[in-house]
Amino acid sequence: RAPFDINLVRRDFPILQEKVEGRQLVWLDNAATTQKPQSVIDRVSYFYAHENSNIHRAAHTLAARATDAYEGAREKVRAFLNAASVNEIVFVRGTTEAINLVAQSWGRQHIRKDDEIIISWLEHHANIVPWQQLCAEKGAKLKLIPVDDDGQIILEEYAKLLTPRTRLVSVTQVSNALGTITPAKKIAEMAHSVGAKVLIDGAQSVSHLRADVQDLDADWFVFSGHKVFGPTGIGVLYGKEALLNETQPWQGGGNMIKDVTFEHTEYHAAPGRFEAGTGNIADAVGLGAAIDYVNKIGIDNINWYEHQLLGYATNLLKQIPGLHLIGTAADKASVLSFVLDGFKTEQVGAALSRAGIAVRSGHHCAQPILRRFGQESTVRPSLAFYNNCADVDALVTTVSRLKSGKREFY
Ligand code: PMP
Repeated sequence: RAPFDINLVRRDFPILQEKVEGRQLVWLDNAATTQKPQSVIDRVSYFYAHENSNIHRAAHTLAARATDAYEGAREKVRAFLNAASVNEIVFVRGTTEAINLVAQSWGRQHIRKDDEIIISWLEHHANIVPWQQLCAEKGAKLKLIPVDDDGQIILEEYAKLLTPRTRLVSVTQVSNALGTITPAKKIAEMAHSVGAKVLIDGAQSVSHLRADVQDLDADWFVFSGHKVFGPTGIGVLYGKEALLNETQPWQGGGNMIKDVTFEHTEYHAAPGRFEAGTGNIADAVGLGAAIDYVNKIGIDNINWYEHQLLGYATNLLKQIPGLHLIGTAADKASVLSFVLDGFKTEQVGAALSRAGIAVRSGHHCAQPILRRFGQESTVRPSLAFYNNCADVDALVTTVSRLKSGKREFY
C-alpha cells in the first residue's frame, strides 16, 4: 500500500488523463522526463500573469516580485539538496549544461597534461563527452571504473585507478540505462583521499532518493528540473561555495558583473558569476513549485513506494519467456531495461505505444554501458510515484502478448 493516496496523486497530473491511440496514456518514460503536477503548471502560468519581469529587485514592483520568486526558488533548491548556502545554487539549463560549465570553467583552469579524470562505465553521454573534450584539449587521461555483470561499479577496481594524478572523479548516482544506484558517497570519500574533486550526476537520483550534498560531500552536484516534475530548460549546479568563488566564470555578460570598464571586469561572487544573461526565471520558479510538491508527498515515501513497484514489475517481467533484464544490481532505482528474444527493441516500443504505453527503446544516451552488456539498444520502462500496479500490468500484458504472437500486433 502506498504511504499516500495514489488516486489523489494521479489526479494532480493532468496528462495522466490523456488519451493516446484511443487509450488512456500509461506513462512509463520517467527516466527521459517526468510529468508535471497542476501546481507546477499553475505556478509558471501565475508568474507570467502576475510577476513577469527581469530580475533587478530595485527597479519596480514587478521586478521585486520576479526577484523574490526566483530567489525563493533558489532557497527551495538549497533546502532540497541540504546545501549549506543559497550561494551554492547556480541555475543552469540542465544537467548537461551544468557538467559542461564545470568542464569549461574549473576544468580548463585546473586540468593539465597527464592529469587524470575518472568516470564510470555507467555514465550518460552528458558525463562522458565534456570530459573527453577537456582531456583532448589538455592532453589529460580519461580513466573508466568498470562495472560487474549486474551493472554495479566495482569499488576494488576503482581503488586501483586512483593515483596522485587524479584531479576529478565524476560519476552518476543512478544509472539512467540500468537503474543502478552507485555507492556515490564511498566514491567521493575515496576520491578525496587522493585530493581529487568529485562531481555527482544527480539527474536520475533526485526524483527517487533523498539528496544530501553535505552527506555525500560532493564538490559539485547537478540535476535537471524536468526529471523531478519541474519544467524543461531549468537545472541546477550545486558547488561548494569556496570552490565556486575560486573558479573563473565560463560565460560573460550582464548580471554576472560587479563593475565593467574597457580594461577590466570585476565579477560577482557565486552564484551570480555563473548566471550571465537573463536566465530562465519562470521555469526556476516552476522548479520551486515542483520541489514543494515532492516535499508534500515526501521523498522517503516516494522512495519506499517505488521500491515496492519496482519489485512488482521486476518479478512479473522476469516470468516472460525470452525476456532478459539488463541491470540486476541489488541497489536499484526505478528503471528496468530489457531485450526480448526474436524482437527488435523498436518493435517492442512500437507495440507498447499502440497500446498507449510510453517507454523508451534505444541507447538512452549511454552507449558504452549497453555495449558492455552486448546491446545497442534496450526497452526501458521507468517508474515514478504516480505509476501504479495497473500501469505495470498493462506493460507486462502487452509484452507477453507480443511475445506469444497474438495477432493484434501484426
Ligand atoms: N545524466 C543522466 C544520468 C541523465 O539521465 C540525463 C538525462 N537523460 C542527463 C545526464 C542529461 O540531462 P539533460 O538532458 O536534462 O541535460
